[in-house]
Amino acid sequence: MHWRQPEIKRTKTVCTYCGVGCSFEMWTRERHLLKVQPMVQAPVNGISTCIKGKFAWDFINDEKRLTTPLIREHGRFRPASWDEALSLVARRLLEIRDRHGADSIGFIGSSKASNEEAYLTQKIARLIIGTNSVDNSSRYCQNPATMGLFRTVGYGGDAGTIADIEKADLVVIVGNNTAENHPVIASRIKAAHKHRGQKLVVVDTRRHEMAERADLYLRPKASTDLVWASALSRYIFDHGMADTEFLAGRVNRVDEYRRSLEPFTLEFAERITGISQAELVRAAHMIGEAKSVCLLWAMGITQHSHGADTSTALSNLLLVTGNYGRPGTGGYPMRGHNNVQGASDFGCLKNVYPGYEKVTDPAIRAKWAKAWGVEPERLSDKIGQDNFLMVEEAAQKRIRAMVVIGEETAYSDADSENVHKAFTELDFFVVQDIFLSRTAQFADVVLPSCPSTEKDGTFVNTERRIQRFYEVMPPLGESRPDWRILTDLAARMGHDWGYTHPSQIMDEVAGVAEMFKGVSYARLEGWKSLVWPVNADGSDTPLLYTERFHTDDGRAVLYPLEWKAPAEQADDEYDLLADNGRMLEQFQSTNQTGRGPRIWREAPNWFVEVSPELAQARGIADGDWVRLTSRRGSADMIVLVTDRVRGNTLFVPIHQGKPGINEMTGEHHDPDVNTPAYKELAVKLECLPRP
Ligand code: SF4
Repeated sequence: MHWRQPEIKRTKTVCTYCGVGCSFEMWTRERHLLKVQPMVQAPVNGISTCIKGKFAWDFINDEKRLTTPLIREHGRFRPASWDEALSLVARRLLEIRDRHGADSIGFIGSSKASNEEAYLTQKIARLIIGTNSVDNSSRYCQNPATMGLFRTVGYGGDAGTIADIEKADLVVIVGNNTAENHPVIASRIKAAHKHRGQKLVVVDTRRHEMAERADLYLRPKASTDLVWASALSRYIFDHGMADTEFLAGRVNRVDEYRRSLEPFTLEFAERITGISQAELVRAAHMIGEAKSVCLLWAMGITQHSHGADTSTALSNLLLVTGNYGRPGTGGYPMRGHNNVQGASDFGCLKNVYPGYEKVTDPAIRAKWAKAWGVEPERLSDKIGQDNFLMVEEAAQKRIRAMVVIGEETAYSDADSENVHKAFTELDFFVVQDIFLSRTAQFADVVLPSCPSTEKDGTFVNTERRIQRFYEVMPPLGESRPDWRILTDLAARMGHDWGYTHPSQIMDEVAGVAEMFKGVSYARLEGWKSLVWPVNADGSDTPLLYTERFHTDDGRAVLYPLEWKAPAEQADDEYDLLADNGRMLEQFQSTNQTGRGPRIWREAPNWFVEVSPELAQARGIADGDWVRLTSRRGSADMIVLVTDRVRGNTLFVPIHQGKPGINEMTGEHHDPDVNTPAYKELAVKLECLPRP
């Protein structure tokens, strides 16, 4: 008897975790993943990956994957056919739209799904339902950074590529634990620092690995970054280090901005931030005198009640020193999810169509209406609700139905008890996911979707690079790619789009959105990639702003700001601040990284980092159990004493725990963008008896 092993299949894919966008081959035999093989051709990572890209794939074949649609009946889920589930979803959404109006329905698109799927999410919302209430998880992370860039330079994306970061004479990292959250970018910075003499300034409340490596490490008090950034701008102006030629030639509102810096003296900055004047002066000279500066920031800046203003202050500082539009310069908000950039780029935002084309502009609406074969009046000119407002509106029963695609809103949104209550108020709730997530458990209908390994598509990474990924293995059970689910759903709502492959969806976008004019699957084949905006001839734009900024007159804007104190502060009772963030080994809710032994054993328990001085004052030691209690909720965790944190500031990873971190975070948010102030969390700490 002859027995033949099935062939080993090698398929190019793109990592589905962080926004770095590493690509590699997956070697598989049927559904078995044999290995992840990084390839030298990969444009971002070459032969590197981190632990997640290499090993965190057990979830693909996890026994808890959803393989059939589920319908809630008498309070319990029962399996259903696709025909029954899709018919029910179509009927209920149309009924609710007709009865309560288009804006009674909200859509949350996925930052892990593909660009094509993001496009179809907003197409259903805008074209079929008639609402602009569509959003994605960038609301929880980098939307404030996008606002800061819109205000100053125009595009909501990194100014250059990772190669520019590598090229810079000076890299400034602010509120971003790059080594754990964007490990492959961190490796490239470490190499440039070690081998090319690149200088590194790190500003962070937590002394993480990049802070340890920095030439200058500044440790501000929490939520005070706008102050030191503005004080550096003022000092640079006052000491003749501003790039006056660049400012005169390319920037508006210079004098007005300079006047607004009046309060930001070194004395004021020292008092508010706790950074000494000597350190501020040293930082100002390093930034002001460097030939090229790249500034990276992330959730340590954005997840505050004034994250948009602080992001704006950082971009202002780059403008003052002429650090845009040249190789090795620019602002780089580090995107968290693999496709959070793409979800926004392809229209899952309340105010713009794909390519950031405004819903309030009649000419833009007419263009999209023509492409979709309807009259312009069919498309709403009203800015929709974002994630934050959808939850508020659901609690008030003004949003009656929601569709959530691949987002763990019940865990990831701040003040989660409030979110759970809002979900129970919905008349109808649909979730598309690969697992019965905490969010899906509130749903009326759950539609089983596929991870990226079971479909074709494209993602956009943090540097605006569009990359192709290919189906590694067929969908598990009856699960379907989100683009197919959305296409099938649209057909049942009277819109037969007829897509049989995601390339057709990309062709449709490229035919309408200026930014993606020259994008096609042919130009993305294999290891090829394109960095948006992409011209009709296929030429792309790795470095933005070389000639003009993305504003009406092509000039950047220095945007005046005031400092405002954080919304949530410590007091006599809640006397500690709990900073929170990611760890290298895990990702967000752990719905994917928490599925297999290979990753969990690296990070098994929920812990809290406590400073040596606080540990001594409270008589606690490594391994003790403590209870943290905020003004909303409590959680128990193990103590890790470390000088990574200082004084009364703690650090708590966001990944583990029942209850989760967001049962402690609160309702405070940035009023400019509605991003929750996750990092403003006052708690008290009680010691628990030793087991
Ligand atoms: Fe994936 Fe990010 Fe790790 Fe690269 S650095 S392998 S994209 S998690």
